[in-house]
Amino acid sequence: MPRTTDTIAALGTPGGTGALAIVRVSGPEAGALAGAIFGETPLPRVVNHGDYRDKAGALVDDVLFTVFAGPNSYTGEDALEISCHGNPFIVQKMLEDLFARGCRPAEAGEFTQRAFLNGRMDLSQAEAVMDLIHARSERALAAANRQLRGALGKHLEGIIGPLLGAAARVEAYIDFPEEDLPEEDRSELQGLLESILRDTGRLLATQHYGELLRDGIKTVILGEPNAGKSSLLNRLVGSDRAIVSPEPGTTRDFIEERIVVGPHCLRLTDTAGLNPAASGLEKLGIAKTLERAAEADLFLLVLDATRPPPTLSEDLARRLTPRNTVIALNKTDLVAGAPQARTPEGFAAVAVSALRGTGLEALTDAIARLADGLRPEGSEDLVAINARHAHALRRATECLAAAAKTGPAAEPELLASDLRGALDALGEISGKIDHERVLDALFAAFCIGK
Ligand code: GDP
Repeated sequence: MPRTTDTIAALGTPGGTGALAIVRVSGPEAGALAGAIFGETPLPRVVNHGDYRDKAGALVDDVLFTVFAGPNSYTGEDALEISCHGNPFIVQKMLEDLFARGCRPAEAGEFTQRAFLNGRMDLSQAEAVMDLIHARSERALAAANRQLRGALGKHLEGIIGPLLGAAARVEAYIDFPEEDLPEEDRSELQGLLESILRDTGRLLATQHYGELLRDGIKTVILGEPNAGKSSLLNRLVGSDRAIVSPEPGTTRDFIEERIVVGPHCLRLTDTAGLNPAASGLEKLGIAKTLERAAEADLFLLVLDATRPPPTLSEDLARRLTPRNTVIALNKTDLVAGAPQARTPEGFAAVAVSALRGTGLEALTDAIARLADGLRPEGSEDLVAINARHAHALRRATECLAAAAKTGPAAEPELLASDLRGALDALGEISGKIDHERVLDALFAAFCIGK
């Protein structure tokens, strides 16, 4: 772990040319550095205007700077933020100067790591900072903000608190068997374990939705060769990303693009056309399409309105349901009356022309409606967990289930070990729990050692 007694510095904004860049400094020397560079130590949390002069006194840039006094800063330490002109050369000069003045280059994520180490945020909030930076849709942004404000940590506290109390009671009977303790009520513990298991189960059920929020909803475009899949993808993405060709079977490799549809982000994949008469490379492409389809969350089935609908393989037909599939009835510019292709009942079907760009809004609305349905029920206010949280929650669940199974009859030592196992696993999510807290809860609950 890097030392936290150093003062670290780094560029906080992306490299490259822009209107502004922000250089961040954190650590015990931050205030003194501001004084040395700008010739004044200003009030904390007030934006100041000044000349950045390097150690030799040469003017580098005209900047705005803010000093923060720990613990009231992002990292919880004394800190300095310098807003300069967004020129990589200026930034480099400034960082070189800060290093010459004793700062150390910050390691990746070190500002947030310090925030965690200084108790400014728990681990799930530190992860939420990353989610927030990478959020690509309204839903992802809302979830990241909820998690950053500690929603997951608070939810877990609601589980950990009662569990700590229960563990403390069980341990009390082990550690102080002679004491005059109240009668042990295991049925209460059983009820608690079952309610916590329901809760962790609900949390675990948000993992897949969490992936959809963070990575985008996997949406596969399916259809016969030449139905207009690539044209439609290009329309939806708004650029000529996929090759459009009058020759059937041109898309053999996958093209993946992220698009925002309503409050959702989709990972849209164009696939090889489903040509039953395919051979060679094209056949391979179709096999891969089916593989992709097996992992997809949503499907966009593109039908050519001038042709009879294709017969889908049984395997694929089983995967497509009205809850996960939107049908785009394409090339409607070529049909005067009713389209040739009839769409299966219950499925949302939208008439479009990828060539003319008509019907696209209705199509994205239909996709957004299906995407809405992917959210686990009753999870509007809940954060969606990530793989690390899920791993810890599964471990906690195993311990809790073991405790619940043997609960009423279990040896207190065994029960205590399962409860501790669950607490350790839950504590890993926020990175907060330690065994001292079990002891604190123990003494608070029983006043032992009177
Ligand atoms: P893919 O094989 O399903 O990806 O189909 P493409 O997007 O490559 O399109 C195949 C052919 O159909 C191309 O010549 C397109 O210009 C044409 N095409 C695609 N969409 C439409 C449409 O809405 N109307 C018409 N008239 N032609 C289209």
